[in-house]
Amino acid sequence: MKDFKRYLITAALPYANGPVHIGHMAGVYIPADIYVRYQRAQKKDILFVCGSDEHGVPITIRAMKEGVSPQQIVDKYHALIKESFKQMGISFDIYSRTSNKVHHETAAGFFKTLYEKGLFEEKETEQYYDEKAKTFLADRYIIGTCPVCANPNAYGDQCEKCGSSLSPEQLINPRSTLSDAILVKKKTKHWYFPLQNYEQWLKQWILEEHKEWKNNVYGQCKSWLDSGLQSRAMTRDSNWGIKVPLPDAEGKVLYVWFDAPIGYISATKELTDHWKDYWGKEDTRLIHFIGKDNIVFHCIIFPSMLKAHGDFVLPDNVPANEFLNIEGEKVSTSRNWAVWVQEYVKDFPGCEDVLRYVLCANAPETKDNDFTWKDFQERNNSELVAIFGNFVNRTMVLMHKLCGGKVPKLHTEIIDDIDKTLIENIQQSALNVQHSIEEFKFRDALFEVIDLARKGNKYLQEKEPWKKVSSDKAQKTSKDNQLLIDNCLHLCLQLTANLAILINPFLPNTAKKLLYQLKVVDKLLDWENAGKLKLLSVGYSLRPPELLFRKIEDEEIIAQIEKLKSGLIKKEETKMEKPDNTLLGVGGKPQIQNDDFAKLDLKVGTITACEKVEKTDKLLKLEVNLGAEKRTIVSGIAQHYKPEEMLGKQVIVVVNLAPRKMRGIESQGMILTAEDKDGKLYLLRPENIVQPGSSVS
Ligand SMILES: [Zn+2]
Repeated sequence: MKDFKRYLITAALPYANGPVHIGHMAGVYIPADIYVRYQRAQKKDILFVCGSDEHGVPITIRAMKEGVSPQQIVDKYHALIKESFKQMGISFDIYSRTSNKVHHETAAGFFKTLYEKGLFEEKETEQYYDEKAKTFLADRYIIGTCPVCANPNAYGDQCEKCGSSLSPEQLINPRSTLSDAILVKKKTKHWYFPLQNYEQWLKQWILEEHKEWKNNVYGQCKSWLDSGLQSRAMTRDSNWGIKVPLPDAEGKVLYVWFDAPIGYISATKELTDHWKDYWGKEDTRLIHFIGKDNIVFHCIIFPSMLKAHGDFVLPDNVPANEFLNIEGEKVSTSRNWAVWVQEYVKDFPGCEDVLRYVLCANAPETKDNDFTWKDFQERNNSELVAIFGNFVNRTMVLMHKLCGGKVPKLHTEIIDDIDKTLIENIQQSALNVQHSIEEFKFRDALFEVIDLARKGNKYLQEKEPWKKVSSDKAQKTSKDNQLLIDNCLHLCLQLTANLAILINPFLPNTAKKLLYQLKVVDKLLDWENAGKLKLLSVGYSLRPPELLFRKIEDEEIIAQIEKLKSGLIKKEETKMEKPDNTLLGVGGKPQIQNDDFAKLDLKVGTITACEKVEKTDKLLKLEVNLGAEKRTIVSGIAQHYKPEEMLGKQVIVVVNLAPRKMRGIESQGMILTAEDKDGKLYLLRPENIVQPGSSVS
């Protein structure tokens, strides 16, 4: 392996249109953080950069649907995501964002360099345009009939019914998902990056020179390269993003996958004036931590861009993970089938390390894996509590009881084979953990640490120092026995210090708690101390023991499973000033309390007059008798009920809804309807005629 002078570690930029869930953490951020913390303990020159990816079509569409600006969307999620990472101890040197100025300049400059080198192809093509929404549409936002299975709601890139991969041109009667408008074709010019020109180089660079990459990554690259690369448009028609820095490019921005990875460069620039050392010098080791859905962008497209530009180093490794499922099902943010980090830290305060532990122990390193709450409980209770925590606690308690709270002496003249085995285990474990982390095998590394604690427990069990104490309290423990006790606890304490070093990259809060109990400074955690036996000085007094982990009860697990299944997890927590329920998405309305419901004033009313509102297709104007008063209500049901059908009918009225004007008529309330799957509306009404003005609850 090359002798690298510095490390530059990137973690995939999360997309700023939703909060982060445990699948993100397990796939990308926890492994990256373990690696970085380990290298920092190795005293490596290392930077860890990340930030929010804030451009692209989904953000503009979301903003359009909610009637807010794209900037408002990204401001909200950037803050939320950043906070979740902080809570989980992800130790970025910088967490930046792609909407800031440095990034806009850097990405535009990058594009300009490639342009000036003449590396883009300019092409005019016809693309689908939504005249109602006044926008060109990305494939995903075009819907039409599938030519294969006749599913009427196939997307422009894929039919979800038969699984066929499609292009918008293949759809029958393509229409817009934004406005439902029939689409027209319009000419538009874009700049294409000819990936095929880099194919030979990529084959050599990846398939020959990086055979050490993980199988899942190498395999995906090979299949892309084997099927041949094509030009890809690196610009889009949009007003949200980085403006194409050319004179004839009004209304065009950089493709989000062109600009996002450049975000790693911008973030480094923002962090340090020495950014060129990290990005420009061949002895930098650049490593991208990503999920498997990003492999093509980080292994094929971005490296080709870097190669074309010429000023930058290429990634030395791209350790992508597979996906984490939850309770046997794929994570789905739209169905709210996810465990959100912000929810977890609220439900399990002080247990951030437990989640880090479970997500690493169960990480989808080589294949998709499953997170279950039962497994979470099991791993906490039978590994963290019963093995690691138990060993440390027994050691501390016994040391205070049998050795007066001070580190006892090691009497080398009476060291036996059991002691020797333990010493060898400590040394061997340190090497094994190191080796596995360097190979990106974090699960193996973590297992090794727990296994060392397990060996500690076994050692204590074999030595039974508590039995060496005289059973008669008045009688002093014999000198020979005290020597045996001293040796046992001396080694157990040195093992505890080693556990602090070895667990630190994985569970940093736990390592801190250990340092506190052992009364030592951070410097102990330097990796050069791993495997050593003289970490704690003889005669040094230590603090009283404190439990490292708590047991997780069945009730807590049942509650989490129910929360997940009933879909009651709030999809997101808003930090914006005004409540913004529209951000909660399809089927994802938050749970409300009785008090919230009690705010609604619902009454039964009888319709006494009804007419169509002039020059509209949808609106009816109703006079409703509510007993004590009459109200005028405008309702959008003209396509479902004729005015004469409405007369005399009883309806449910929301009485305390703020009045609003529709077509010049003030509507003083709302009537409730049910909508079936075809969009037909039905009035809600009492089963029997009741007194007008009767309240509904
Ligand atoms: Zn189909």
